[in-house]
Amino acid sequence: MQLIIHRGTQEIGGSCVELSAANSRILIDFGMPLVNKNKERFDPDILKGKSVEELKELSILPKIKGLYKNENKSIDAILISHSHMDHYGLLSYVHADIPIYLSEGAKELVDITNLFLHKEVKSFNAKLIKNKETLVIGDFKITPYLVDHSAFDALAFLIEADGSRLFYSGDFRGHGRKSVLFKQMIENPPKDIDCLLMEGSMLGRSDRLYNNEEEIEKRIVEILKESRTATFLFASSQNIDRLVSAYRACLKTDSIFVIDLYTAYILDKLNKISKGIPRFDRKNIRVKFMKYHADVLAKNNLKSLLYLYNERKIDMDELNEKRDKILMLARDNSVFPLILKNINAVKGAKIIYSMWDGYLTEEFRFFCNEQGLLLESVHTSGHAELEDLKKFANALNPKKLIPIHTFDTEKYPELFKNVQILEDGEAIEL
Ligand SMILES: [Zn+2]
Repeated sequence: MQLIIHRGTQEIGGSCVELSAANSRILIDFGMPLVNKNKERFDPDILKGKSVEELKELSILPKIKGLYKNENKSIDAILISHSHMDHYGLLSYVHADIPIYLSEGAKELVDITNLFLHKEVKSFNAKLIKNKETLVIGDFKITPYLVDHSAFDALAFLIEADGSRLFYSGDFRGHGRKSVLFKQMIENPPKDIDCLLMEGSMLGRSDRLYNNEEEIEKRIVEILKESRTATFLFASSQNIDRLVSAYRACLKTDSIFVIDLYTAYILDKLNKISKGIPRFDRKNIRVKFMKYHADVLAKNNLKSLLYLYNERKIDMDELNEKRDKILMLARDNSVFPLILKNINAVKGAKIIYSMWDGYLTEEFRFFCNEQGLLLESVHTSGHAELEDLKKFANALNPKKLIPIHTFDTEKYPELFKNVQILEDGEAIEL
């Protein structure tokens, strides 16, 4: 089996791995970069109006034969590990006949992102795959492993071909609500791994404010108990673990978790996959209608859902009246100041900032200050910390460990055994 990491050996984002066997070629992940050549934030607007050939010239699309829509297809399949843009965001450029294998949860979230956020990954040839259900694609035998990550239904892959075994970790952690999956992997790891591609997002960061989701839930409970006015939660609606933590905190304090239509739709869809996910009609959940979200549903023949969600609608008057019992999911966007304006006595309200601090702008800090809002970070990473990475690497005990999805490639040799560092685009035989 031949391995080429087209992007990801020295950076986080834009992951793309190619594997070739005697008669087959597959890719794992085809993500949007998060940084450009100068390691500054990647601006997706640069893609607009450019052809595949132009994007290849800019090194935004990797030069992979038989992959793109303007050529004869010779890639047999693409496996997508999870629904984060930096793992699937360039799929719209690939040949429409190439099957894309992903979990049901990942497929739902990609579709939802397209529907609401107009991301350019439109319909694709999706094939659903399941935890531990092995599939054969040409010369490859592939076994997906469900992992604990901030993206719902995320997968790692064991790939066997030509007598060698490769394990692709994808993004993972050991401290989320699915930490049991991590424990199982450590206790009963796949054996005889020749090559492990392991992520290392956290090797250069130290934003460990809370150890796990239980601690986050506990802190939200304390905040809600103390609150005398509305409380706001800034979190991604696609971070299901975090929504569950917030919802559980609401149940414990008899607070009302106010979500928007977009979030109600996500929970509704994912609840069909995993019954434990709180739906809009559960106790203590109410839905705030925003015009933009309502328009999206109406325009896409989903008006019936509006009637359904309407049963749990909360309007501004009720929100105001019950404000000391409210935890409202919100984001730093143009709608937030309008909501604030309509809530009385909002001074002293707490904003639970439950996302990576890197997204927190100076402007927003200033805005909070001006409005008398108290900002508190309550977050834990979606990625494994060093000690869990070590446990993982030791358990899998690969003949070769290759860094991927990290800005700290050069730290691997002193932290792990059998490390081999690759360059983007370098081919090796396993
Ligand atoms: Zn991810």
